[in-house]
Amino acid sequence: MNLARFPRISLAHLPTPIEPLPRLSAALGGPEIWIKRDDCTGLSTGGNKTRKLEFLMAEAMAEGAEMVMTQGATQSNHARQTAAAAARLGMGCHILLEDRTGSDAHNYNHNGNVLLDHLHGATTEMYPSGGDMNAALEAAAATHRQSGAAVYTIPGGGSNPTGALGYVDAAMEMLVQLNETRLTIDHVVHATGSAGTQAGLVTGLAAMNAGIPLLGIGVRAPQAKQEDNVFALATATADRLGCPGVVSRGDVVANCDYVGDGYGIPTPGCLEAISLFAECEGILLDPVYSAKAAAGLIDLIRGGHFTAGQRVMFIHTGGAAALFGYDSAFDITTKWTDKKTEAA
Ligand SMILES: *Cc1c(COP(=O)(O)O)cnc(C)c1O
Repeated sequence: MNLARFPRISLAHLPTPIEPLPRLSAALGGPEIWIKRDDCTGLSTGGNKTRKLEFLMAEAMAEGAEMVMTQGATQSNHARQTAAAAARLGMGCHILLEDRTGSDAHNYNHNGNVLLDHLHGATTEMYPSGGDMNAALEAAAATHRQSGAAVYTIPGGGSNPTGALGYVDAAMEMLVQLNETRLTIDHVVHATGSAGTQAGLVTGLAAMNAGIPLLGIGVRAPQAKQEDNVFALATATADRLGCPGVVSRGDVVANCDYVGDGYGIPTPGCLEAISLFAECEGILLDPVYSAKAAAGLIDLIRGGHFTAGQRVMFIHTGGAAALFGYDSAFDITTKWTDKKTEAA
């Protein structure tokens, strides 16, 4: 496994810190919970897509692209990080956004990641939900190419074998950190969506024979489909790395019991996870990905699946910028008083 031979551009602040979460661990009374702060990758409020973009944007540059195009949900963190990476490299950026939630809240449609997309100079266009967005992306790119633009397309979530290399690197980075600090970990838990994060991690961990089981908590697809997607991408990533067949189907484990009503729709468990992390540890989760994964982790601790005496690493994949698109999901009325109105 030799990552240095792949074209790569530095965009992330690496290595991301590993920290203990003592107050959260005590509040839950189960395993010792640790966190790897991939929310702190630095690019435009950070997140997991920055690692993938180091490899994807390098490929775009190598191909002579002047513009990148990608797609995602309205509050896509991937779209925002792609827009920021393009800005940094002086490339154009156009994003297809899919209305997956049907929300007509102003902040959902214009604030949070959407505001940041536009601040980075990207242009966006909205699509209704349910279509084949990667096909729509290729069609839109073909139109731009007809007018002479050199366009590089990035699939949703940056999840292809090139993007997944970013999470092979993350697996390597984490193992080095664990070795240096003599920290043993019984399980790694993180949010899984378009599959690139889990595919890269599972491939890197298997290629290094780490012996640390990985659990992806799903945010959209049912379990069998999610695991199949991750396994297919992990297989292709292992081929790309020159370690064909290193990942077996049994290494790919997803739990998709915490999706709730659908992608991007907050659940009571995810809102509780946001409060717990924010109030116990001063860490912000997001309602679409990291808090649904944390809700799964919390429920699995309460159900005795993870227990005292174990050590669990939660990979925080970022996403807090979306909170500003989801303000209406939170009831903060008990937490403030209005002296202005009282005085009047
Ligand atoms: C995209 C994203 C994920 C999921 O990663 P995939 O590689 O798409 O599976 C998790 N958390 C956050 C905050 C994300 O933006």
